[in-house]
Amino acid sequence: MHERRSPAELLALDRAHVWHPYSTLVNPPEAFLVQSARGVRLRLADGRELIDGMSSWWSAIHGYSVPELNLALTTQLDDMAHVMFGGLTHEPAIELATKLIAITPPDLEHVFFADSGSVAVEVAIKMAIQYWAARGLPNKQQLLTVRGGYHGDTFGAMSVCDPITGMHGLFQQTLATQRFAPRPESRFDGAWNDTDISELSRVLERHRGNLAAVIIEPIVQGAGGMWFYHPEYLRRLRELCTACDVLLIADEIATGFGRTGELFACQHSDVTPDLLCVGKALTGGYMTLAATLTTPAIADTIGTGVPGVFMHGPTFMANPLACRVALASIELLLASPWQSRVRQIEQILRRNLSRCAAFAHVSDVRTLGAIGVVEMREPVDMRTLPRQFVERGVWVRPFGKLIYLMPPFVIDPADLLQLTDAVVDVVRTLGAGV
Ligand SMILES: *Cc1c(COP(=O)(O)O)cnc(C)c1O
Repeated sequence: MHERRSPAELLALDRAHVWHPYSTLVNPPEAFLVQSARGVRLRLADGRELIDGMSSWWSAIHGYSVPELNLALTTQLDDMAHVMFGGLTHEPAIELATKLIAITPPDLEHVFFADSGSVAVEVAIKMAIQYWAARGLPNKQQLLTVRGGYHGDTFGAMSVCDPITGMHGLFQQTLATQRFAPRPESRFDGAWNDTDISELSRVLERHRGNLAAVIIEPIVQGAGGMWFYHPEYLRRLRELCTACDVLLIADEIATGFGRTGELFACQHSDVTPDLLCVGKALTGGYMTLAATLTTPAIADTIGTGVPGVFMHGPTFMANPLACRVALASIELLLASPWQSRVRQIEQILRRNLSRCAAFAHVSDVRTLGAIGVVEMREPVDMRTLPRQFVERGVWVRPFGKLIYLMPPFVIDPADLLQLTDAVVDVVRTLGAGV
């Protein structure tokens, strides 16, 4: 073992060599060195503690260093860290699949494990295309989605992200061309406007012969704009997809496991998709794992068509450590009063963030479940804002015009108050031009 480098040395190496998400190595933005994390607190190498407002991008719903999850991992480690999934199987994968089938909407009875959310989306797209090919309709390969969506960073997933924020022009030569409809405008907590779905309905009917599936984030659009739309939209979309012989893919990678106040956001509309993607909070933020669930109708059709197998198989498929910790995370969630916790977080977020609505430079404040969003009229400076939050003892990472919170479900009211106070305070200083 070599001597450990100092925090300053580590940060210098980081700046020089390590790429961060959607970042640059040319004059890179500041990164903060985390030493450890426990409960809802991140501990920086310089000893400062930050209350986490991000749940490490929707995933750490139980907070950090959770005894039950640590135990699940160390116990599984004694048996095996990994084995290939081709021709072999294991208890963690079987138990996790069984659990996912039990808690997701009815009819979803088959599970394909993948390593990340983006890959789960790729898998769903490939399943949809293979399904129609097996039914003798190989022209049904295109996808339809709404603007303002985010489905991941790989090529298939990217092709259904918002064309502007997803920079489609940049990748034009290699990116599949998909169909887009406007994003749903009826607010989750507002009145339903029937014309909201008319453009999507028109595109669906006109192009049904070429459409394999509609892909959508149910109720909450995440990284594409943190927008909450009316449950009626999803109900109508389900009916239209069925009527037009187009599959419905629900991307619950951000919304799954309680974040919106229902275990899955589809349940706000009482809708069962044909394909469901989960990821992010699946392992409680411990390891990278995702899954695509589908119905017997789709699995049977793929299995009896040509080539008779589903054409996908990641090396680390159904990693036993990840499956074991996912199982423990779901059990911990279901054994907890998660619904009342999320409701309480929602009330505090709504009450405290609503103070931002009075600022002229804020265009909207919205809350759903354990998600609180302050939308500014202009994009914020992502290079300087994180430090302002760190100085206030919290971890918040805005993007674009959005400053938002999605804390771990276990956060207590005092810590949540510190988070929302920091947001209100930083938003106020933005208005003062500081
Ligand atoms: C994060 C996210 C993805 C991509 O997941 P990764 O694990 O980052 O590949 C896909 N869809 C939605 C809705 C997401 O929020």
